[in-house]
Amino acid sequence: MSICYLKTANNALHCDVIINGGGMVGLTLALLLAQADYSVIILETNIKTPIAPTSTEIPSDLRVVALTQATRQLFESLDIWQSIASKRLGTMENIKVWDQALSGSVFFSALEAKEPDLGVIVEQSVILHALQAALQHYPNVQTIYDTPLQAYQISADRLMATMQNNSILSAKLLVGCDGGQSWVRNFSAIAVKERSYDQLAIVATIQSERPHLNTAYQRFNATGVLALLPLSDPFTLSIVWSVETTLGQSLMMLSQEAFSQQLTQEVEAVLGTLTVMSKRIQFPLREQHATSYIGERVALVGDAAHVIHPLAGQGVNLGFLDAAVLADILVQATKKHRDIGYDYVLKRYQRSRRMHNQGMIYLMRAFKEGFTHTSPLLGLLRNKGLDWVDSHAWLKQFFIQKALGK
Ligand SMILES: Cc1cc2nc3c(=O)[nH]c(=O)nc-3n(C[C@H](O)[C@H](O)[C@H](O)COP(=O)(O)OP(=O)(O)OC[C@H]3O[C@@H](n4cnc5c(N)ncnc54)[C@H](O)[C@@H]3O)c2cc1C
Repeated sequence: MSICYLKTANNALHCDVIINGGGMVGLTLALLLAQADYSVIILETNIKTPIAPTSTEIPSDLRVVALTQATRQLFESLDIWQSIASKRLGTMENIKVWDQALSGSVFFSALEAKEPDLGVIVEQSVILHALQAALQHYPNVQTIYDTPLQAYQISADRLMATMQNNSILSAKLLVGCDGGQSWVRNFSAIAVKERSYDQLAIVATIQSERPHLNTAYQRFNATGVLALLPLSDPFTLSIVWSVETTLGQSLMMLSQEAFSQQLTQEVEAVLGTLTVMSKRIQFPLREQHATSYIGERVALVGDAAHVIHPLAGQGVNLGFLDAAVLADILVQATKKHRDIGYDYVLKRYQRSRRMHNQGMIYLMRAFKEGFTHTSPLLGLLRNKGLDWVDSHAWLKQFFIQKALGK
């Protein structure tokens, strides 16, 4: 196992990989690399992120994510799945999707698909806690909080990075896991293709009058998409309501009571009266795709490389797969005594992930455009489309396999 060490010649802290950003994806990559015996430095600017790894009481988090089976398998292989699954895990056994204006609908069921479930809902703090707790066991990983990078340069066989307190870090590879506004991407001058969806997503926790029976609901109409995601308590759900920006802003101004009423109406009281239990938070929605996932001794992973619409709950699942693929490619390169920062090693990562993620970006764009378009013909098509999917078992199976990340 290699360990980070201070080299007296240039007073730089040496390691194999610097990970900029200790969010869900950055910590997953760190754990994958730690288990493969690499020395890793994680840099994280948000001092609020660490959660005492010994704490069993993790504060509840409004931000939840739907995880695919592929992500679950990854977490099982990292030995953190039990820790995640034991904390307020919501399970989707069924998903009902419908178009409000036109009454077309599809019902996906785990039973019908012969799967244990169609995905799980986890609070982000639970994932971060499990990763941070697991990383405590690896002396080859160091985390530095609140001292961001200000520059880096490439020397003969390493990357030398300067932090804002002028300390020097050196590594074979720098990985940007620093989210949609990635510093690494910007400093490396990697261009990003960007378009606003002209929507914002409102997130909150709600209670329902009737039990959710582990069913997720997703209602489309011309103004946006509203998802109700079942949490572990049978009467508690998380909402992600993606709506056109000006409508979203006026929904954010409503009182809790008025918002609850509007919400109940929007989903046609499918679970009886809905009541908002938490504050509401909003996220502007945009699509982003880095034109390259790699630079000289640099790789981008997770939202630093791609940001997609949350309507299919795939964003971070793609990021976890990026991390798994990159770690695997680095391990293979090391076995062949190759430098893990070399261009041809990093190109393998880009080839494996960029086209795949591009496909998901196009799919999300098509869904968003198709469902929010007001043209009567498109409306008819999407309505017929939903009913058609519902009546074809093989097509339902296809969508289920995609949603499970298979
Ligand atoms: C409303 C909504 C619902 C969503 N639901 C789902 C879902 O159900 N399923 C799903 O798969 N995805 C979902 N997503 C997408 C998911 O939240 C993101 O894909 C995920 O958070 C990306 O993780 P990340 O670690 O790549 O980036 P981030 O979560 O953005 O983490 C980046 C980290 O880097 C740190 N950082 C930033 N800049 C620096 C810097 N200069 N130096 C050091 N550290 C830095 C940040 O503090 C942060 O900790 C949803 C998104 C939204 C907005």
